[in-house]
Amino acid sequence: MEDCLFCKIIRSEVPSAKVYEDDTSFAFLDINPINPGHTLLIPKEHYRDLKDTPDEVLRDLAPKIKMLAQVVREGVKADGINIGMNNGAAAGQEISHAHIHIMPRFKNDGHIHWSKRPYEEGEMEAVAEKLRELAPDA
Ligand code: 5GP
Ligand code: ZN
Repeated sequence: MEDCLFCKIIRSEVPSAKVYEDDTSFAFLDINPINPGHTLLIPKEHYRDLKDTPDEVLRDLAPKIKMLAQVVREGVKADGINIGMNNGAAAGQEISHAHIHIMPRFKNDGHIHWSKRPYEEGEMEAVAEKLRELAPDA
């Protein structure tokens, strides 16, 4: 896509610190990492988010997420790895080209987890029932 920052990175119109590239995907360092080594994996074809991305593209990306998690872990001697994908502005998506965050974590690196709260009485079963209605039969 013409005006997409990540499409421009793939075309080398915007410089990036490349980590991996093949025919269908590209991985590079996030310019503003949670820790050094924070990598973004993107499909070369432009899709806006997870919902927009065909299953076959996700199948292609999955083993590369695993491979890059190992590369990043070894490369910066991380203690752990978070995998993330922001979908929609409310979820923190800033760039509208689907991308997977591969984030190295270190013991006591100071990054807190999402705040959580327990369900209220009856809420959990009601939510589960709603989601089961929407989920397709196996
Ligand atoms: P999002 O918030 O959309 O899930 O993640 C977008 C990520 O892209 C952010 O973590 C941000 O730091 C990174 N980013 C934004 N602009 C650039 C850029 O020009 N180059 C690189 N390498 N990363 C970028
Ligand atoms: Zn794009």
